[in-house]
Amino acid sequence: MDSGISITAEKLIDITAKKASHIALKEDEITKTVGYSSKQIAETAVDRVAFWLSNEENHLLYCKLCNKGPFTKRGLFLHLTRIHRQEIKLMLEDEIKKEIKAII
Ligand SMILES: [Zn+2]
Repeated sequence: MDSGISITAEKLIDITAKKASHIALKEDEITKTVGYSSKQIAETAVDRVAFWLSNEENHLLYCKLCNKGPFTKRGLFLHLTRIHRQEIKLMLEDEIKKEIKAII
């Protein structure tokens, strides 16, 4: 179970960084990434974690984890996935665990 969570979290890092960078996701991107059975949990985890990753001020994007910026959408995406990859993964794991507990 725990390794499943870790694998799911790993798969969701890029999607979460996209969401935090205000880059549009494809409609079924999450389902295609984690499968239909994990879709709901994944969507909730992505939303919650993305909220903690970026700040928008005057249409400029800043990294909430280290306060760097401003970034373009693409710039923030690259910053998050290169610099904060491990942090984002751990945050996703925590949220997925909370979601699973809430369901059981
Ligand atoms: Zn940062």
